[in-house]
This record gives sequence, structure tokens and C-alpha cells, in this order.
Amino acid sequence: MSELTSEELPVPPFMEPFRIKAVEPIPFPTAAERRDALVSAGWNLFRVPARAITIDLLTDSGTAAMSAAQWSALMVGDESYAGARSFERFETVVRDLTGYAEILPVHQGRAAERILLGLLLGPGDISVSNTHFDSTRAAVEAAGAQAVDLPVPVGPGELNPFGGDLDTGRLRDLLRHSADRVKCVVLTITNNAGGGQPVSVRNVKAVRQLCDAHGVPLFLDASRFAENAYLITEREDGYRHLTPREVARVVFELADGCWASLKKDGMANIGGLVALRDAGLAARAREQLIAFEGFPTYGGLAGRDLEALAQGLLEVTEPDYLRYRAECARWFGEQLGLAGLPVLQPTGCHAVYVDAGAMLPHIAPQQLPATAVANALYLAGGVRVTELGTLVFGRRDPDGGPDVPAPRELVRFTLPRRVYTLSHLEYVVDVAETVSSKADQLTGYHIVEQGGALRQFTAVLRPAAEW
Ligand SMILES: *Cc1c(COP(=O)(O)O)cnc(C)c1O
Repeated sequence: MSELTSEELPVPPFMEPFRIKAVEPIPFPTAAERRDALVSAGWNLFRVPARAITIDLLTDSGTAAMSAAQWSALMVGDESYAGARSFERFETVVRDLTGYAEILPVHQGRAAERILLGLLLGPGDISVSNTHFDSTRAAVEAAGAQAVDLPVPVGPGELNPFGGDLDTGRLRDLLRHSADRVKCVVLTITNNAGGGQPVSVRNVKAVRQLCDAHGVPLFLDASRFAENAYLITEREDGYRHLTPREVARVVFELADGCWASLKKDGMANIGGLVALRDAGLAARAREQLIAFEGFPTYGGLAGRDLEALAQGLLEVTEPDYLRYRAECARWFGEQLGLAGLPVLQPTGCHAVYVDAGAMLPHIAPQQLPATAVANALYLAGGVRVTELGTLVFGRRDPDGGPDVPAPRELVRFTLPRRVYTLSHLEYVVDVAETVSSKADQLTGYHIVEQGGALRQFTAVLRPAAEW
């Protein structure tokens, strides 16, 4: 009897800690339909309509499934223009989570970045980060300033549990030589561009000390604060006994403020925030908010959005949810590895990254091996992933020569929150295995048409084999 009490029944850590209440059918286009869709899209998955996608692992941004509690919170949304009750609830939840007094809602992360970085930076200034996310870099550059990335170096094949850390040695040197130009240090938690790896508390403390020594403010891009906190409870001595919410608070306390895209760990489909200690800076940010987003108690969102976000910010730090999310990514990474794909280790929470360069050594970076893998996954099974290789990070040669390749040719299998079950991911693994078994037959792509910044969204490609 005692051997079968509920505590002793093994619950697999990756088992979904929720059951399904509302469902949405997924499309199953045929192989011929997939090919037609990709040809019509100029061989660019960003241009393929969602109705032609079976499993969509393009992004974890704004793609979460909301809980029953969030859906019911929508109904009590207060749509008053000024002083809505829903703002008060949002403000209370965010204050309680972060400890910051000044809370500004915005419609999404990049609005927060434009407002805050626009106030902190001017021409000739420098913003330093473990890695600026692409929209963050765009906001820094729009202010006429320079974005300097100082990620810790992680060698190929090296396992660094805190691969998201900022290189404090290089930060010390930079501050020694140009402290007067550095107007902010930004820690992106987790470090999205750097493989979704966490930043350790130890690193945040070391960065804080350097900032204090030079009078530079420290901000967090906290879009995945809960995933970062969970990975700290798993990987960093001294924090294993704390809850993810407690660890998140420790990290927030070390900074002067934060912004976030709440389309990630807000567990909702739209939203963002700026949260600050400094009332003076907040007052200036509020003026910008009014000019570009809306009245300070809604900031470009509906009252119901604020309700769903307030509830989402409570749910996202639940240990069962975060354990499932991390274990699910780990399991998925393991399975993709067994299917023959070179998976970057360790996995984080929001995505699994695969080295397309290692998979397709016969395709030169200028012929976009990461695009070749992504497109093959779509053709083989309607799976959409993101290319993070030369199409996204390569630089055009100003004289019309070949592109300067990206440092790595990656594809990202991104996991929307609470959307796909393990059996959906098993299907993706099967599709990936088919692609991996034919890797030596895949061919690359040429870019036929492209825009300027963020060319991946609109570029038109053509298979090199048809060139
Ligand atoms: C998504 C994201 C942003 C930008 O937020 P949007 O809501 O897409 O405007 C900024 N920083 C990080 C780390 C992100 O992941």
C-alpha cells in the first residue's frame, strides 16, 4: 500500500502540468501543397502563411496559450481610459515581483526600449550588454549610440552552464577607457541571441559592482526573467533552495530597473513594461509613453490585456511549469540529437538550437545552410523553425561582393509556451530525422531580393540548384 501512495508515483518531469480546455485544429498540407506554398513565398518561411504550417516553432513571442484564469480575467478588464482597476492589478503584481516602484505598461518590448534607451542615450554614447537583442540594438542605434556586446566566450563544444553571462574582464577594460561614454549596461536575461542561456546571479553581482564603481546604471532586459531564474535554481550553488520567484527578486534587486517584452514570460499574446526605481527617470519616460503609446495606465494595451498579463506573471514563476518547460527543452534536444542533428548544449528553456553549419558542411555560408535546413524541415513535414545564420546575421558587402558570413549557422526550434504536447514534438523529431538522413543531398540558396535591416523577413530566395 505505502509503495503506491501518490508521492511515490513517478511523474515524468517533462509531463505537461496542465490539461487542455480549448483546442485549435492544425493544418496538414500535402507535400505538393507545402512545395507550392514555399515557392510562392520566395523560399522564405517568414512569408509562408500560418494556414500552411503543421507545427510552428518559429518563435515563442506572443504565441503562448493562456490559462483558464487568464481567459476569465479578460472579462473583468476595466477599459477606463484613466486610472483603470486593471492597471492597479498589473502594477501591484509587477511591483511585488520586481520591487521597483515605477511601473509603465507598453504594447510590446520594442516600445519600452525606444522610450527608455531614447532617454538614456545620445549620439556618441555606448550601451554595453551581454548581447543586445536585435530590437534593443535598433533602439540604441536609433538614439545615435553604439551597442557593444560583451558575451562570455564559449568555445565550440564547451559546456558552460551560464553561457549567457557578460564578460566582466572586457567590461572592466571598456569602463576604464571610456566610462564617460557608457550610459548604461544591459543584461538580457536569458541571453536570447546567445542561445537562450542564463545569466548567473554571480555575474549580475560582478556587473553591478563595476557599474557602481563608474556610476553607470544597470538595466535588465527581463523578457525571460522566469526562465532565467529557474535555470539559476538548477545550476547555481547558493540558489538551489530558493523558488524561481525568489531568485527573480534577487536579480531584480541588483538592477536599477528593467524592461520586458511580455509576449514571452508574460504568458500572453501582447504586452510589455518598463519598471524603474528612479521617479525622475520614470516621469520622463511617462511623457514619452503619453506621446507614443497612450495614457500611463494603459500604455497601448487594453484593460483586458493588463488583466491577462497580471495573471500570466503569477503563473509563469510556478515551479511545476518551469520544470516542465526546461525538461521539455532538454528532452527535445536529446531526441533531436538521437535523430542525428548537432544540438547545442546545454539547452535552455525557450528553444533548442541546431548547428546547420556542422550538418551541411558542403554548403558555403553565402548559400545559407541554415535556410537549407529550415526549408527542408518545412518541405518534409510542414515544420517551421527559424534560420539564425547568414540570412539573419550575415552582413552585406557594400561593394556588392559576397556577404560577410554570420559567426555560426544555426536553426532555432522555438517552443511556444503551453501550446504543443510531447507528441507534437515527437512528430518534429521524426521530420528532423528524415531531413538529417538526407543532409548530404540538400542544396543551398541565393538571395534574389532583399531589403535593408531585418532582411530575413522579406527576402526572396532561389535554390542554388536552379540558379
Ligand atoms: C522579444 C524580445 C524583445 C522585443 O520585444 P517585442 O515584444 O518583440 O517588441 C526584446 N528583448 C528580448 C530579449 C526579446 O526576446
